[in-house]
Amino acid sequence: MKDFIITDTGRETAVLVGIITFDQDERTTEEYLDELEFLAQTAGVVVKERFTQKLDMQNPVTYVGRGKLDEIVDYIQEHKIGIAIFDDELSPRQIRNIEKKLQVKILDRTSLILDIFAMRAQTASAKTQVELAQYQYMLPRLTRLWTHLDTQTGGAGSGTGATVGLRGPGETQLEMDKRIISKRISLLKEQLEKIDKQKATQRKNRGAMVRVALVGYTNVGKSTLMNLLAKSDIFAENKLFATLDTTVRKVVIKNLPFLLADTVGFIRKLPTDLVESFKSTLDEVRESDLLLHVVDISHPGFAEQIAVVNNTLKEIESADKPTLLVFNKIDAYKHIEKEEDDLSPRTDENIPIEELMQTWMAKLDENCIFVSAKNQLNISQLRNELYDRVKEIHVERYPYNDFLFPMYDAEDFKMNEEKDENVNQKEE
Ligand code: GDP
Ligand code: MG
Repeated sequence: MKDFIITDTGRETAVLVGIITFDQDERTTEEYLDELEFLAQTAGVVVKERFTQKLDMQNPVTYVGRGKLDEIVDYIQEHKIGIAIFDDELSPRQIRNIEKKLQVKILDRTSLILDIFAMRAQTASAKTQVELAQYQYMLPRLTRLWTHLDTQTGGAGSGTGATVGLRGPGETQLEMDKRIISKRISLLKEQLEKIDKQKATQRKNRGAMVRVALVGYTNVGKSTLMNLLAKSDIFAENKLFATLDTTVRKVVIKNLPFLLADTVGFIRKLPTDLVESFKSTLDEVRESDLLLHVVDISHPGFAEQIAVVNNTLKEIESADKPTLLVFNKIDAYKHIEKEEDDLSPRTDENIPIEELMQTWMAKLDENCIFVSAKNQLNISQLRNELYDRVKEIHVERYPYNDFLFPMYDAEDFKMNEEKDENVNQKEE
């Protein structure tokens, strides 16, 4: 599927819309909108303005109230804005009504994330997973939206061939579209099942090495750490979801080899459907022996990001795995001393890093480590810790080995490297 954000005419402009509720205070909403803006930038869109409204809850018909919508319409018309992006997933009904009123392209957090995924997908399996998630998002929203978007150049679904086909007797365009998309969804599911099986076989072929997976919120430094530990060269940049595909590398610390996987980052409000369609990517996490949960400690919302990652891990039944929390970016941590007359509650960023370290070490029973991947601070400490953990798992699994790692002779490595395209090169 083609993404529908970047047009031939250059960069599009957008406004962001979010709400402030009882559970989501103003500061939190601003933080969410910062993230939404970062997502928009990643998709090549320039954000011109933000609109927020205090509400008891989302308006079920128009997300924000009528008055706010009028305000947005005025701004959009005056500034010739092309897209309105909403911070929560919109229901089919909300999209329909908002679109009628605003007369521009409407995106929500989910469709924006899906678009970025579509741009980033490299391998056949990632592409199939994204396409499935896109159709699943689209199916219940297929009303006027479909035909509307389809008439636009580069509209969602253009290039899928989904609207090409013969209409059955007495069938409306909408029914036909729904039927074709449902069919496509089952086909994609079948394809994914096949891919899953192939991947499972590949993983089995990797032999008996202990498996470690880097997990964490998006943009925290997973790929940078991977490159450092595996001396590899994975695409890392200051964008969300720079890496969509799982990459596996063999890492050797002292004489101990193990497999390290770099995985797709998590983000808040990821719909369960999407998580599910990324099942085969997430199998890597599910089947690993140890998780390195990477955290960006320089981000003001890092504690919530930890919670989001833990919840997603729960969803894929991987919350109970042995985990080492790796607090990254300690070089960029900013400690803002509170003014003496500032009586607002102390937040994380008012705490000096030493105190923060102590607190987390106590809380996690020392299952954490503080590093900077970029400035290479504490990396040898991380390597030592990894060595100890992997060795522990290995010895537990093969208690009768006289030698520490007899199964990893040179032949084995060669075999693994040659046979398994998943190791030491990007999968396709
Ligand atoms: P991923 O999405 O978790 O894989 O994150 P990346 O490895 O792609 O890194 C995201 C951004 O954070 C990149 O711009 C990195 O250069 C930057 N980054 C990674 N580690 C550090 C660090 O220790 N300190 C600082 N200041 N930036 C870092
Ligand atoms: Mg990455």
